[in-house]
Amino acid sequence: MINLCGCYETHDLKVEADIGADAIWCNKCFSNFDIEYVPISNELKSELFEWLSKYGEWIDWDTDGIVLNGAELEEEHNKQGLKLTEKVQKELEGKYKVSFSPSTYAKRCAAQKQ
Ligand SMILES: [Zn+2]
Repeated sequence: MINLCGCYETHDLKVEADIGADAIWCNKCFSNFDIEYVPISNELKSELFEWLSKYGEWIDWDTDGIVLNGAELEEEHNKQGLKLTEKVQKELEGKYKVSFSPSTYAKRCAAQKQ
């Protein structure tokens, strides 16, 4: 396995959606991996791309707030992310530990308004 970040050995990965980033990260140094080099199936890669493209549907960019039903949209996105993380974990079984880092944007926004 090639080194995807500066860590001597990487065994911990995380799946997290962010604007302009790929979906898989080092869970130690938080480097964002180029998904091209992550040894998972192309099918799963395209599922991750699709999932990423939906990230932020709950964000109202004009006000930096959330859209109507934003919290539900985020929760649904997190559910899909968790499922994809399980798939990634399955394909990388025995090589990596993969955890999921859910988006908390809408939740934080809601908390601020209260
Ligand atoms: Zn690292």
